[in-house]
Amino acid sequence: MKQRIALLGSTGSIGIQTLDIVRENPGLFEITTLTAHRNWERLARQAVEFDADSVVIADERQYDALRQALDGTPIKVYAGEEALRQVVQSGQVDVVVNALVGYAGLMPTVAAVEAGKKVALANKETLVAGGCYVMPLAARHKAPIVPIDSEHSAIFQCLTGEKSPVRRLIVTCSGGAFRDRSREELAHVTVEQALKHPQWRMGDKITIDSATLLNKGFEVIEAKWLYGTELKKIHTLVQPESIIHSMVEFDDGGILAQLSYPSMELPIQLALTYPKRMDCGLKPLDFESLGALRFLPLERKRFPCYDLALSAAETGDNYPCALNAAGEIAVGAFLKERISFPLIAETIKRTLEKVSRTRINGYEALAETDAAARRYAAEFIAGLPAKTE
Ligand code: NDP
Repeated sequence: MKQRIALLGSTGSIGIQTLDIVRENPGLFEITTLTAHRNWERLARQAVEFDADSVVIADERQYDALRQALDGTPIKVYAGEEALRQVVQSGQVDVVVNALVGYAGLMPTVAAVEAGKKVALANKETLVAGGCYVMPLAARHKAPIVPIDSEHSAIFQCLTGEKSPVRRLIVTCSGGAFRDRSREELAHVTVEQALKHPQWRMGDKITIDSATLLNKGFEVIEAKWLYGTELKKIHTLVQPESIIHSMVEFDDGGILAQLSYPSMELPIQLALTYPKRMDCGLKPLDFESLGALRFLPLERKRFPCYDLALSAAETGDNYPCALNAAGEIAVGAFLKERISFPLIAETIKRTLEKVSRTRINGYEALAETDAAARRYAAEFIAGLPAKTE
């Protein structure tokens, strides 16, 4: 029987690659629902190509345009957050691929988990902001969460069949666009430079987060929740060629690693087909031409976002949620050239200093922290001089 997929964020980088996999395997998958934020044109094209039952456009102002574009087709057209919640819970859906970016991905994960759906999770912000809430919820509803993030997929693959205690999870990192820049140079980098990731083509938000290494901090938090691993057992390591996607060290000192050329198709496909593996068009690794792999420490002084993330994770409660919200505001401001690259970290730091610590006892508490942290971050940025370096 085909897996029926609700693909959230189909117009983005992960969404498009997920559809490539569906296109290649028409006997295995079918698309029930596709969603986007504002890009109604691409969403309409995708919905027609994949014969979706329904589409959801999150920004209600784009509803009319989307409806008109799909006029004359049987595709149902919805808009807004509540519609998103309902489509993921539909009886027509077997698996929800969450390829949304940012905090907006949390609510649909919660809805999917509450309906007991399998979630193939790219939206790391779900676990950064709400891991403390989502993971117990998923356990209660017996809803599997399978990672799409390449590092977490690598760890998932290394842990398959293992029952022994883990000594360390070793999360690898390319080093981002500015791995070799000095602190002085980092003060003047441009948006265009920050968007040039050396190994991966991704959406803007994650590309900037990779350049600041906030993304690596997020991935440590994601690993903590996915694998129930204490923070002190999660290590990070720069592996500039992005060939080793992460590793697991066991108590006997043995280390398992997952290797391949950089590809998101492998982890996306595996999240859908696990435990089965299939060809996804990835070239065999040519070890001889690679010659060597390098390993470097993560430079925490030059990239303070990483330590900010770790310290928010150590504090726990609502701090990781505030971290995520401040990061979203700061990255948005950087992309609009309102603030310089180093001010991304400064905005997060100032926001975390203002947040009051509260226990997360439900979704509302997360929403309140998210809103407050966004406000603090925006106020900090508004108080900066017009052109800030
Ligand atoms: P993109 O920015 O390319 O795509 C994001 C998708 O989410 C788009 O479909 C976008 O719609 C939609 N979207 C954005 N904001 C909202 C909103 N407020 N409400 C509803 N929908 C929204 O992101 P990526 O595909 O790069 O990343 C998706 C997630 O996967 C992120 O959490 C990222 O960290 C994670 N990830 C990505 C990797 C990659 O290789 N890209 C690798 C590992 C993890 P629209 O097009 O209309 O704006």
